[in-house]
Amino acid sequence: MPLAPGAAPSPAQKALRKLGLVRPIDLALHLPLRYEDETRITPLKNAREGSVVQIEATVTASEVQLQPRRQLLVQVDDGTATCELRFFSFYPSHLKTLAVGARLRIRGEVKGGFWGRQMLHPAFKAAGGELPSALTPVYPTTAGLPQPYLRRAVVTALQRVELSETLPPGAPLPPIAIYSQNGLQPLPSLREALTFLHHPSPDVALATLEDHSHPAWQRLKAEELLAQQLSQQQSKRERERLRAPVLQARTPADGGLPLPAQLLAVLPFALTAAQQRVGQEIAADLALPVPMHRLLQGDVGSGKTVVAALAAAVSMDAGWQCALMAPTEILAEQHFAKMIGWLEPLLAARGQRVAWLVGGQKKKERAAMLALIESGEAALVVGTHAVIQEQVRFKNLALALIDEQHRFGVAQRLALRQKLAHHGMEPHLLMMTATPIPRTLAMSYYADLDVSVIDELPPGRTPIVTKLIADSRKDEVIARIGAQVAAGRQVYWVCPLIEESEALDLSNATATHADLSEALPGVMVGLLHSRMASSEKKAVMALFSGGHMGVLVSTTVIEVGVDVPNASLMVIEHAERFGLSQLHQLRGRVGRGAAASACVLLYATNDSGRVGETAKERLRAMQETNDGFEIARRDLEIRGPGEFLGARQSGDALLRFADLATDTALLEWARALAPWMLERHPELAARHVARWLGGRQDYLKA
Ligand code: ADP
Ligand code: MG
Repeated sequence: MPLAPGAAPSPAQKALRKLGLVRPIDLALHLPLRYEDETRITPLKNAREGSVVQIEATVTASEVQLQPRRQLLVQVDDGTATCELRFFSFYPSHLKTLAVGARLRIRGEVKGGFWGRQMLHPAFKAAGGELPSALTPVYPTTAGLPQPYLRRAVVTALQRVELSETLPPGAPLPPIAIYSQNGLQPLPSLREALTFLHHPSPDVALATLEDHSHPAWQRLKAEELLAQQLSQQQSKRERERLRAPVLQARTPADGGLPLPAQLLAVLPFALTAAQQRVGQEIAADLALPVPMHRLLQGDVGSGKTVVAALAAAVSMDAGWQCALMAPTEILAEQHFAKMIGWLEPLLAARGQRVAWLVGGQKKKERAAMLALIESGEAALVVGTHAVIQEQVRFKNLALALIDEQHRFGVAQRLALRQKLAHHGMEPHLLMMTATPIPRTLAMSYYADLDVSVIDELPPGRTPIVTKLIADSRKDEVIARIGAQVAAGRQVYWVCPLIEESEALDLSNATATHADLSEALPGVMVGLLHSRMASSEKKAVMALFSGGHMGVLVSTTVIEVGVDVPNASLMVIEHAERFGLSQLHQLRGRVGRGAAASACVLLYATNDSGRVGETAKERLRAMQETNDGFEIARRDLEIRGPGEFLGARQSGDALLRFADLATDTALLEWARALAPWMLERHPELAARHVARWLGGRQDYLKA
């Protein structure tokens, strides 16, 4: 509702704003949670027990009782039957309205008691007045925003909102089968769909509103998906208009090998066919004067790092700088070690270096690194996201490699853009993830990305055997650990949380560490958690990767990317608390060498020795497959895209109405329609996106 000039907003207006209900379209798209049927009066004798009904009846008795507790008891009779109304809280005004002889319209749930029908705290008002012709919407709301106010606001908004058709004439219609008794009916317009969803006629099959299969719902979902596709494809087009450095390896004048070829020559292994293929896809992108925006997917252990190193080599060979970023310091450290091993000797021959940049670095070291980066002597910079902080000035950053991030955050992408602004260009971007993106997600949230997939593991890996074991049998597992360590193997033990205060029943990594140390005399048991100082973490990691430490107890800090090939047993405590993709990532820390590896999922059982059936069912998927794609698909089914993407990464970009698990056909339609619409009807496309995404558009694009 508009504000009178100068008037302070009322609490209800403030609440509207808090819910993001600002423009008429926002209110029009604020759909009811459910509906109440106030369109008819039910004779009491027909009111089924447990159903919510509206009756009209006369008060025959009204009495305030004090025992066993103060309550108002009212008898009503509608001529077909009687019913008792019971109120535990009431005001003097209620007594007046509910006086004997009054005729009332009453709405509530009918309960059949020993003493006859009852309603507890029903809504009531004087009888008479017209019955509404549509169901009454009940909206999601918040404190200070009563339903009647919200209903009026929506009605006003629906009258004022601009809802002209944005589907271009001649466009293929969304695949919605709409049949009436006498044949095919036309697709509802957006206005018809919204009007209906706010005020459906009472004869509607409520199930079709609940499961969102009603044509009005389908129309809405189709529109939403179209807006998303338009916005994503539009941002892809905009990116294609930007400039980036052309990166191509060259054969040096002295007839030597270009850097990528030198790197291949020093690797202790040959690339798999899949690594070669994606390497070529990336090289082809880098050779174009348009910023690459590519997602490199590959199951855990498929060898993404070396592909990234090859891309870095191309960039450095062409005389440009490159940055490799990881979400945690430990992972960055590992990359650093690997990159140094592979590339530093090659770079040294060219008078160049690898720089290292993380948050908790010593001032002096950091200053030295910043100088190397600014002068260009550091051809490659490895670190955490500290690498793209404002103070970091690159001479000429041409390529950013981002590890284990589904999607680079908005702020980070904007920061990255700035890094080459002084050349009037943008760096290329390669994001790597071990969490495979299910097809529908790739088609929707990631529609503006190009995707490369490593679909093959390096040879010689033995498959990981996964076991589900109740935590009551922990002792057996510990015994097995002892045997593994005695055989020269190493073991990870993962606990969900570190602080007892966070949840009492969660294993505490510290306590587990103490227990295991005691149970395994003579074995070095280390502890790693996110609250440790980074120097401590480094020291622990070094002992473990060096093979000195037999068991590493950790929180999920090891989740991403850590690579210790000699580790062959992974124990995950409270596995039922993890997402499947997360478990798959964790499991991927073992099975990296030639030794047979195992993953033990310990699940907590309740007093009766049972874990929730769904929890176990879910974990069983881990046993059934080692295929990250299959696991991601099941994960998406179970958790939905919100959790899958991680709220922070997806932000507001999530779909409100459409459901990727069920609306694939609509998604395909939108995806096919969007390019044609952008090409042939750009003004309609712009109007459609503005209507649906409003201010969130920039967010989606970044
Ligand atoms: P991820 O894709 O999970 O990041 P990594 O890049 O860490 O996987 O690679 C996992 C392990 O496999 C590393 O030890 C790496 O050196 C090794 N590796 C990568 N490519 C090959 C290959 N083609 N042949 C053999 N080993 C490889
Ligand atoms: Mg990795």
